[in-house]
Amino acid sequence: MPNSSQNKHIAAIVFPFGSHQVPFLKLVIKLAQACPNVTFSFISTAKSNQTLFSRPNIPGNIKPFDVSDGIQEGQVLGTHPFERLNLFLQAGPENLQKGIDLAMKSTNQKVTCILANAFVTPSLIVAQNLNVPWIALWPPLSTSLSVHFYTNLIRQHFSADRNKSRSLDFLPGLSPIRLEDIPNDVVPCSDEEEQQFSKALASMGEVLPQARAVVLSFCEDLDLPLFVQDMKSKLQSMLYIGPLTFSPSDTNTDTDKDPSGCLPWLDKKGSRSVVYISFGTVVTPHQHELLEVSEALEASGFPFLWSLKDDQKSILPNGFVERTSTRGKIVSWAPQAQVLAHGSIGVFVTHCGNSSLIESMANGVPLICRPFFGDQGMTARLVEDIWKIGVKIQGGIFTKSGLIQCLNLILVEEEGKKIRENALKVKKTMQKASEAGGKAEQDFKTLVEIISNP
Ligand code: UDP
Repeated sequence: MPNSSQNKHIAAIVFPFGSHQVPFLKLVIKLAQACPNVTFSFISTAKSNQTLFSRPNIPGNIKPFDVSDGIQEGQVLGTHPFERLNLFLQAGPENLQKGIDLAMKSTNQKVTCILANAFVTPSLIVAQNLNVPWIALWPPLSTSLSVHFYTNLIRQHFSADRNKSRSLDFLPGLSPIRLEDIPNDVVPCSDEEEQQFSKALASMGEVLPQARAVVLSFCEDLDLPLFVQDMKSKLQSMLYIGPLTFSPSDTNTDTDKDPSGCLPWLDKKGSRSVVYISFGTVVTPHQHELLEVSEALEASGFPFLWSLKDDQKSILPNGFVERTSTRGKIVSWAPQAQVLAHGSIGVFVTHCGNSSLIESMANGVPLICRPFFGDQGMTARLVEDIWKIGVKIQGGIFTKSGLIQCLNLILVEEEGKKIRENALKVKKTMQKASEAGGKAEQDFKTLVEIISNP
């Protein structure tokens, strides 16, 4: 271990919501293992720290420190999906600084670098106040970096004509992307006051060039070349360190275990025969769409494994579970990363969350996409038109006939063969990038170098 890493103290500031947390923890664990002499203080809300630090095998040089979630005592929350996110961001640099003060007091070491989720923009102010480098992790779809970077330009282009099929061809590499694909808050529909979270995203063009490095949880070889070239020219350093997902060997928490027996159930199914359905941790599809999904599954006759939240099970048609019980399994939580790695999975019906995308790509599983919000529309477009590893559901919403058509295409038809082959090619590309000495390792070494010699 080079001496340069001694006395280095990294404040790792997570965005304590949904699936942003696990990839960030994974990055910090990787860094802590690579730099055993460096101290890592993991700054998050008490709830997030409690959940994340229940994982086993967290290196001893990572310690959690709690900050406020921004919710006042007795405050009653409304229904806006971004409310918690807004409150956390509104608590601002002062809140984060309190966590850093706790960490410095406890470790008796000054913070020498801040590594943060890019969404937590107040962390840049903290880094500036402390006069230390700021490194940002961009956890969503890598290409979505461009639409948040160029939000002002996009707003100017679409101010007069909001034809949803207009291309983003004025941004390097983004000509395949249409206005309808990009997150709603990039070009808001109403004049309602912009939420704190949307403001943070819209500021990426000013914020990210100040990062000593922007870290992406993806493979450069799979990204749009002109997008990569353009972003590299705008950022101080852009590092593709490969997927930040936990592999089966380093997972052992309740969520990674298999209490419903999905894996032994899959063992009894034929190779690439099973439809896996999951819409992630946030999205709740409308009841009528879930009904269409169930009808398609019943009529198509394919074996299926469906991760369906308990409160949504009541909408299933009467007798559906019994009628499909010999070939279908419904669980409230599946060990998805392991499920997608199982050879019996033939296709993934997904909302296109970024972790789901990466887990599917890493295992060569083709996708049927029903995007809902955020970067999911861009993901579906790339899946269908660029990587050609899946299809988008016709008309953008589930119908029985539309889903049956997609299932037949991917699982049975000759036309779907190319998609299945492409999915396997993408898997190989990802494996190659992640091999020892591959591009991901090189970029990770650069990151280690930056935090060791800030
Ligand atoms: N997940 C899981 N089991 C489930 C549903 C989801 O393990 O039954 C995991 C999935 O593997 C992924 C994460 O939850 O790692 C969902 O993240 P993603 O980015 O795909 O979607 P989000 O939840 O952010 O919408």
